[in-house]
Amino acid sequence: MALLVQKYGGTSVGCPERIERVADKVARFRADGHDVVVVVSAMSGETNRLLDLARSIEPHPQPRELDMLVSTGEQVTTALLSMALHKRQVPARSYNGSQVRILTDTAHTKARIQHIDGHKLRADIDQGRVVVVAGFQGVDPDGNITTLGRGGSDTTAVALAAALSADECQIYTDVDGVYTTDPRIESSARRLEKITFEEMLELASMGSKVLQLRAVEFAGKYAVPLRVLSSFEEGPGTLITMDEDADMEAPTIAGIAFNRDEAKLTVLGVPDTPGVAYEILGPVGEANIEVDVILQNTGEDGHTDFTFTVSRSDLNDARAILEHSVAQLGAKELRVDSKIAKVSVVGVGMRSHANVAARMFKALSEVGVNIQMISTSEIKISVIIEENYLELAVRSLHTAFGLEGDAGVQQ
Ligand code: ASP
Ligand code: MG
Repeated sequence: MALLVQKYGGTSVGCPERIERVADKVARFRADGHDVVVVVSAMSGETNRLLDLARSIEPHPQPRELDMLVSTGEQVTTALLSMALHKRQVPARSYNGSQVRILTDTAHTKARIQHIDGHKLRADIDQGRVVVVAGFQGVDPDGNITTLGRGGSDTTAVALAAALSADECQIYTDVDGVYTTDPRIESSARRLEKITFEEMLELASMGSKVLQLRAVEFAGKYAVPLRVLSSFEEGPGTLITMDEDADMEAPTIAGIAFNRDEAKLTVLGVPDTPGVAYEILGPVGEANIEVDVILQNTGEDGHTDFTFTVSRSDLNDARAILEHSVAQLGAKELRVDSKIAKVSVVGVGMRSHANVAARMFKALSEVGVNIQMISTSEIKISVIIEENYLELAVRSLHTAFGLEGDAGVQQ
């Protein structure tokens, strides 16, 4: 018998029939003897509908009023799910964020949770009730309704699981787990049984957009075991935990991540003197443009080339800033290239296994993929390559690290 916090996303509660299916599921967990706290999103499309409605009246509504409006979507689904549970003779109560006192700061539309008082919910649980809580919302110290940013119901669920010391936080969604890479690119991609929070953060930031990143960070910070599973099919999903497998047989690499949203800027012929990196990247940082991979070549004749990548949406701004710096620094030329992609191998196992980089570079060379830039961290090696080669690179790395499933994609 366990205390489970289960979160059901917008598609899982997208219509009355689906809400009834969720109620069936929750009722089964109850019948098996578990205590269940449910967090729900608004019906799919509802938050966007409400935002459009607001903009049809005023293009720039005050954030406080926006929160008042968009928080209603989740209130609808909590009440409907409670009703569906009652119909199944399961005692249940719905609450919005302010009733639970999910206390947040005052940053409307992107508030952060500061405190949750678990006592009230615990009293309900002790009386045998299922508690259904509205995701994505809280209340500030003055009683104003706040929301947590798009996708914020995941964070609500993790925060409740932490506050109640739940045994597991289960995120029910429309995919059945986290995969070794995107199955649309590599059909032999396999569902991972288990990964660490750190690996999940690296995989999620590049394509496998299953969970709100903040929720993963939060779960890691409070060591809440997190499981991603399908609302529509039975299966164990993927467990995201703290543990790193001590098992020597455990795979070194958890998955292959990639990102098409990068662009490269190169300043050619920069004087090779102290302070140059700062003079180039300082103004870029001041403009709040995030720099990803950086490379500086060895200098020749007192000059060097300096290359870095930014997200494609920042390319024009970064270019404008650099044109100015190139003139000031007396550099030779600025070149930009937006037809690049980043491919990364991710795995905590590389901490204890040497040669991951060599295996990666060998696999890429065997299929003729040219590496333009490399960056490494303790659990990730990334390369920047020409965008046209992205799929080939992902597939060859997936094979080289033995990630494919025996029978293709597990359902
Ligand atoms: N309904 C909110 C959104 O669409 C929160 C969520 O679904 O997690 O962003
Ligand atoms: Mg969502």
